[in-house]
Amino acid sequence: MNSLATYAVSTNNSRGRVIQESAPDGRSEFQRDRDRIIHSAAFRRLEYKTQVFVNHEGDLFRTRLTHSLEVAQIGRSIARNLGLNEDLVEAITLAHDLGHTPFGHAGQDALNDCMREHGGFEHNLQSLRVVDVLEERYATFDGLNLCYETREGILKHVSKKNAQKLGELGERFLQDKRPSLEAQLANFADEIAYNNHDVDDGLRSGLITLDQLKEVTIFSRHFKQVKDRYPHLTERRVVYETVRGIINTLVNDLIQQSRQNIQSAGIVSLADVHSASPLIDFSQIVKREQQELKKFLFNHLYRHYLVVRMNKRAQHTIEKLFDAFSNEIRMLPIKYQEKFKREGHQAIADYIAGMTDRYAIKEYQRLFTIAEN
Ligand code: MG
Repeated sequence: MNSLATYAVSTNNSRGRVIQESAPDGRSEFQRDRDRIIHSAAFRRLEYKTQVFVNHEGDLFRTRLTHSLEVAQIGRSIARNLGLNEDLVEAITLAHDLGHTPFGHAGQDALNDCMREHGGFEHNLQSLRVVDVLEERYATFDGLNLCYETREGILKHVSKKNAQKLGELGERFLQDKRPSLEAQLANFADEIAYNNHDVDDGLRSGLITLDQLKEVTIFSRHFKQVKDRYPHLTERRVVYETVRGIINTLVNDLIQQSRQNIQSAGIVSLADVHSASPLIDFSQIVKREQQELKKFLFNHLYRHYLVVRMNKRAQHTIEKLFDAFSNEIRMLPIKYQEKFKREGHQAIADYIAGMTDRYAIKEYQRLFTIAEN
């Protein structure tokens, strides 16, 4: 482990766990958090959940599991360079998508619509629910009993209404305070990872083309550099080298700009971080370029008619499942029927959110087709 900056989160300034436990042997508190996350059932299910492409569309596309690993890798590099707590960043990034529904954003929007009259569905809050209550593996507590700072990082956003119910953890949303730098950088690592792997997956799927991407400043700049240096490289390798170059540029720019922000704000302690403006950020130029890339992906990939069709099917599947269970609670597995008695529709949301893409498809078939399946 690198030596920590004075404003980094450490075992010494950590607010600890809700349920006191003895210090771990041979690993830090945040390494223990990371290990608990990796051993959780929700983490294993990430393998069969998707971001943009439905899980069975192809074996080469990212899943939420490989996405989370890429985010962790990018996050750790940034943390190491800024003297921040690499173990904490690893724990946050590996856990950041645990609450995601099947079928990526489409599934999440659909479940949010279904839950509108029952308190809504927020995927960040659901990730926190997974680590706070839904995992059932330890003898003396529900959830994973993670450190405060790991939970703080997982709860990226939450509505004011829900923040009020979260006690200490919700305070920063009500008082307009910032989370740790480790939590701040985890969001950027997420963004760097998904923009770039969506470029890669988008090209591989044929939904976007190289000619279209050459209109995007940051892509064309790196593409040209690769072409100039390796004029005879195959197209696939040019794309990989280009994406690699973009990730490098973004990571280095983020490190430099953030270091400068931390310095000029005179940040010395973790308390300073909480009261300052957000400190982790890109430079203005790179921020603009990132925006342009995001806009491109939105218009050409996420709005592509084949993606829209996939999303519609996903939405339909989630809605039908939710309606079926709402109308006939006895169709839920026994455990969730019991839960429904205590927690109402949240039990249905928990059941559906926990499904993998293929489990949701199977469940749909089991409920709505009479043929053998
Ligand atoms: Mg993510």
